[in-house]
Amino acid sequence: MRYLIISDLHSNLEALEAVFAAAAGAFDKVLCCGDIVGYGPEPNEVLDRLIASGATIIRGNHDRAACGIDDADWFTNSARDAVIWTKAALTPSHRDFLFRLPPGPKRSPDGEFQLVHGSLMDEDEYLFDALSAYENLRLASVPVTFFGHTHMQCAVALSAQDEFSVVAGDEENPPDNMWVHLEKGVRYLINPGSVGQPRDGDPRAAYAIYDSRANFVKLKRAEYDIPSVQAKMRRVRLPEFLIERLALGG
Ligand code: ZN
Repeated sequence: MRYLIISDLHSNLEALEAVFAAAAGAFDKVLCCGDIVGYGPEPNEVLDRLIASGATIIRGNHDRAACGIDDADWFTNSARDAVIWTKAALTPSHRDFLFRLPPGPKRSPDGEFQLVHGSLMDEDEYLFDALSAYENLRLASVPVTFFGHTHMQCAVALSAQDEFSVVAGDEENPPDNMWVHLEKGVRYLINPGSVGQPRDGDPRAAYAIYDSRANFVKLKRAEYDIPSVQAKMRRVRLPEFLIERLALGG
């Protein structure tokens, strides 16, 4: 089976369309690690597009806040302003859809992979550093765990001999267009990056292709029309900081 793995779409329809176009023909099924809404200008449209793709979806922290499961007290100011705007912009049926989304970890029926938003233990934990990635890999009961939340495309691995390595996402191994060959007995933690608001210095929409039969994951980027999204954000008065960071990828 070939999967398109996406995360952190953040109401950015142009970026999502660009990913679907770039990945066309390369996948059979879509998997989403959460944060469909928040930050961007088109939450309902992005939800419609994702639902139409038949994706398997888990929720993220922005999805919880936007449908009222949580308050956004611990969000940064600009993120909170965007949550308030998103809450008001969502139609009742879209809000209800977010409300019913399951949390991770969500395991595949064949036990080959799982989806989490933050980490295995906590959907809100940011997996930035090697130690927490290592601890999560030791806990993983399936070969491949896909995660999101940090908006940084990367892949790390733990061998059967307990050796930890960064496969993609550090200076020596930039993730762009990287093929990760999945070896037997090795566990992987892979972040496809953010579709709608990358923060790893590359403003292009990020995604991954996972081929469970050929045993590889490809980390990819797709160009999209950033000024068009920024114009839509200005029109609905989303915070300027969020508008500018799209072009920076940071
Ligand atoms: Zn996010």
